[in-house]
Amino acid sequence: MLEKSALYVVATPIGNLSDISLRALQILAAVDVVAAEHVDNTRHLMTAHGITAARLISLHQHNESVVADKIIALLVAGNSAALVSDAGTPGISDPGAILVQQVRARGFPVIPVPGACAAICALSASGITQPHFLFYGFLPTKSGLRKRALEDLKAYTHTLIFYEAPHRILACIEDLIAVFGPERQITIARELTKLFETVHTANLMQTLSWLQADANQQKGEFVLVVSGAEVAVTGEISDQARYTLTCLLAELPLKQAVKLATAITGENKSALYALALSLKAESDADAHDT
Ligand code: SAM
Repeated sequence: MLEKSALYVVATPIGNLSDISLRALQILAAVDVVAAEHVDNTRHLMTAHGITAARLISLHQHNESVVADKIIALLVAGNSAALVSDAGTPGISDPGAILVQQVRARGFPVIPVPGACAAICALSASGITQPHFLFYGFLPTKSGLRKRALEDLKAYTHTLIFYEAPHRILACIEDLIAVFGPERQITIARELTKLFETVHTANLMQTLSWLQADANQQKGEFVLVVSGAEVAVTGEISDQARYTLTCLLAELPLKQAVKLATAITGENKSALYALALSLKAESDADAHDT
């Protein structure tokens, strides 16, 4: 059942040790080597599931290229390997992508073994009905840069998903309010699958007060699921303006196309921007389908 000379990218739990697939356990027990972000944590997980045989090597963001060479040498010799991160899916705000790139470049199979991911877990419990989302991961840690990143996201109509550390949670919500205004809905998903799991939905300002009122709610790991910008009523945009924007978008970057379309048609810039984003999303989806 195990492929020789293959790298398995294995998702592990984000808290509750039972959140791991049967296939993931079979693979972790069978591979010749497991590259793990935190060897001790992975050993703890494997021991909890009765796996003691595996050889573990440490792979983290500061040694990924060097360890990739070692893993490739093992694959060349006919061994199989697994990659796990500390929690959730490797490569998602975690190391792994460099190893995967290098293994693929050498022509060896990379086989994903799906499982927990904090972003998807939070989204599934948010109740947000908007069908599209943008996973951003960690915002910059400094407020100025964070606000600039948020400015770039302000007009997006997609649901936005962020990861955040406990010591920045209040400052992050304050910056979200400063840039997006107080009214946007946010679901805070804290300590998912763990003892103090909390999933709380309110608008940004109410959420800030709720966090400030209870220091316990500021502890642990966080996913923030923030609703996107209101979808502009594109029906208000004339067919001529829509056509102009579509032509410009075919030739120019989005911001420039919107700027020119605004100047040419006299339509509302935010409405044109929102329309441009949805036209781009449609054409990206079409390109993906073909
Ligand atoms: N690879 C992981 C995944 O698939 O979700 C993400 C790793 S990233 C280094 C760690 C961040 O994910 C945390 O700072 C937090 O924002 C989020 N996270 C991980 N586990 C979580 C949990 N149980 N509850 C809430 N957020 C979590």
